[in-house]
Amino acid sequence: MSPRLRFAPSPTGHLHIGGARTALFNWLLARHHKGQFILRIEDTDRERSTEEYTTSILKGMEWLGLDWDEGPFHQADRLDIYRGHIQKLLREGTAYKCFCTKEELDERRLTAQSRGEKPKYDGRCRQADQSQDKPYCIRFLSPDAGTTVVHDLIRGDVVFENKELDDLIIQRTDGTPTYNFTVVVDDVTMRITKIIRGDDHLNNTPRQIQLYNTFHYPVPEWTHLPLILGPDKKRLSKRHGATSVLAYKEMGYLPQALLNYLARLGWSHGDQEIFSKEELIAKFDATNIGKSAGIFNPEKLSWLNAHYIKSVPPQDLLKKTLPFLQEAGLKIEDEAYATQALQSLKERATTLKAFALEGSYYFQEDFPIEEGARNKFLTPDTLKLLREFRDRLIPLSPMNEILLKDIMTGMTEEKGVKLGALAQPLRVAVTGGTVSPSIYEVLTLLGKERVLQRLDRVLS
Ligand code: GLU
Repeated sequence: MSPRLRFAPSPTGHLHIGGARTALFNWLLARHHKGQFILRIEDTDRERSTEEYTTSILKGMEWLGLDWDEGPFHQADRLDIYRGHIQKLLREGTAYKCFCTKEELDERRLTAQSRGEKPKYDGRCRQADQSQDKPYCIRFLSPDAGTTVVHDLIRGDVVFENKELDDLIIQRTDGTPTYNFTVVVDDVTMRITKIIRGDDHLNNTPRQIQLYNTFHYPVPEWTHLPLILGPDKKRLSKRHGATSVLAYKEMGYLPQALLNYLARLGWSHGDQEIFSKEELIAKFDATNIGKSAGIFNPEKLSWLNAHYIKSVPPQDLLKKTLPFLQEAGLKIEDEAYATQALQSLKERATTLKAFALEGSYYFQEDFPIEEGARNKFLTPDTLKLLREFRDRLIPLSPMNEILLKDIMTGMTEEKGVKLGALAQPLRVAVTGGTVSPSIYEVLTLLGKERVLQRLDRVLS
């Protein structure tokens, strides 16, 4: 039977790095085994769930290319299904109404604590008259003795003592079903066979297994992923920088770079670092998921992004960078020229946004000149050199990299100075800074007219 997997985010925040990795692992396993990938929005927490977060999660999934075969299902639309299952358990006697009030429960909790005991529901309503006309919640009648074992693919068998688990509330006094219950009803009715999720859910799993047993449904295969930590080994959070997937889109990351990065965050295939999507699908195997927490490393993500930017074909480069160029207020008039400029920048770009930030001089005349660079490189002596270079450039036709190199090396040899003594001031004059692709390349691309204009600007 081909496996059925799911991603079940709660729309109480944006799709973040950890959630996206969970989604990716489930998706990869489904694709690898030619199974089904189901998307379910766990929005029963009406106060914390928002439409905006749901939309943002879906957008994040789409951007990463994690397509789903069924759904998105919303738990909020499935309340009747949960109610039906609760009624079934009540009829069978595996759930019961509990009439204990909050005050009573609080008092008993305090007493237990003062005796040094673990506070736990004492099960007293198991015997209560079920026909009382009082507010009630519904509890699951869980076993008192024995153990519940989670067979986890990463951790092996994790054993829980049943006596530690009290009778779980499955329906609140206001009639709404609770989280652990809805998850199981959904996973059962959606016929999920493998579950990969964060190990912050491990403590929920024995309770969920008990519910599976009650429904006489085979328990799925569990994989609880170790958390993702920041470089300081603390749980990954906003303190470590952007954590939302769409923020990476806005910063100019390519989806395949983030996908590749997330795949390697806790999973490995030998020493291989670069994986195309197809390769990931072919090679992904849950048994190679590591036991230790993944450490989020922004430098590695940048390195991968730079790699994928280099491999964007020239004809796609403008389309991908256009939003960033526009955001920076840069106007693209000549597409062929823009494409060449982007090609020249792409070898050193780490994000798509960097094209606009670092290469704006290709697209505008009134770019600023860095203060430090001006003071250091545009001195009376170097301006003299630039003036001479300008005079030698005027008759040059055509202007190409070879001829430029000739002029520049000729000039600097004549004067007995290093090439940099001319190249660097020239770079500051035509790009506004001290870092750019090869000066010959930049000059040729800009064209003689623009170069002369820019030289005149600093010479006047
Ligand atoms: N809705 C849960 C979450 O966002 C996931 C539950 C599960 O995967 O079982 O953390």
